[in-house]
Amino acid sequence: MSINNLTPEELEAYAEAHGEKKFRGKQLFTFFNKSGRVDLEHSNLPKNFINQIPRVDDAKIFRTYVSKLDDTKKFLFELNDGNLIEGVLMHYKHGYSQCISTQVGCRMGCVFCASTKKGLVRNLTSAEMLRQVYTVEAAYHIKVSNVILMGSGEPMDNYDNVLKFLKLLHHPQGHHTSYRNMTLSTCGVVDGIDKLAREGLPITLAISLHSPYNDLRSDIMPINRKYNLEELIAAAKRYSEATSSRITFEYTLIAGENDTRDHAVALYSLLKGLRAHINLIPLNAIEEYDKGRSTAEAIQSFKKELERLGAEVTIRRELGSDISASCGQLRRNFEGGIL
Ligand code: SAH
Repeated sequence: MSINNLTPEELEAYAEAHGEKKFRGKQLFTFFNKSGRVDLEHSNLPKNFINQIPRVDDAKIFRTYVSKLDDTKKFLFELNDGNLIEGVLMHYKHGYSQCISTQVGCRMGCVFCASTKKGLVRNLTSAEMLRQVYTVEAAYHIKVSNVILMGSGEPMDNYDNVLKFLKLLHHPQGHHTSYRNMTLSTCGVVDGIDKLAREGLPITLAISLHSPYNDLRSDIMPINRKYNLEELIAAAKRYSEATSSRITFEYTLIAGENDTRDHAVALYSLLKGLRAHINLIPLNAIEEYDKGRSTAEAIQSFKKELERLGAEVTIRRELGSDISASCGQLRRNFEGGIL
């Protein structure tokens, strides 16, 4: 494993094991995580030490797509082994939010999602997740304040690397991002939610719901056949209580599938009693799925119905909608020769 996946303590042990003073470990940690660099030859570490260090994990910006409509930028990153992953940088009033990937591909099989169409290629390392943030910060001389795990991959399916990534990103000697400014989005892996609750870290949890009915949800999201809605909502409640936080529920609106008034009412009753925020996402149609997005009117009425019932709900702003939409579409379009 490459050394930019390590904590300061692990790097101190690494330095000592290579005949160096312990403090070289901390120096490596701040070089990687505070300066956000990997060009060790330009650090002030001893040359004979650097020469013993194998190539470290990286995620280089391979292509950048800049929206003409707003300040959003989408990236394809190239990993050391040539795999491509994608991410998005969004500029809000409060600062920069970056959406990052946790896996190359995905094995969850949601029918509307481009990331999963070719299955899982491999997990990302913690350092490959960190590098997505650090290379973008260096390219634009910015500091990213919010990190969202909503790129390709299911974070709970790469639990250990994701958790270590979040801890490294939080480290006071490194990037020092607060846990509340990190959002982990899951398709509904209940044992992962419970495991994360036990970590005692106030990481913001988002759950991709997309239907208030088990039969429809099982049709569009295979994970529902393993953990049904009742189990999922119970886990969300436990997470909310353990972390004293509100849960975000993502709900992608699919025309004629999950966007009627009945769905809105059922969604409201499902989440009743939970500290919840509902984020409505207009579907980005993909070739392999024969459904389209709900009309603007249907989206508005769905929102209004939820508000009337007393739910907290927003429609996701479609940032950078002119530059190949969401989750896996960038990588797939690029590899398919469309971009
Ligand atoms: N695997 C995690 C995180 C990545 S997906 C999860 O499922 O939550 C991020 C969000 O984008 C999820 O809510 C997902 O369901 C949604 N999504 C995927 N493909 C989409 C599409 N074509 N249109 C709209 N939303 C999509």
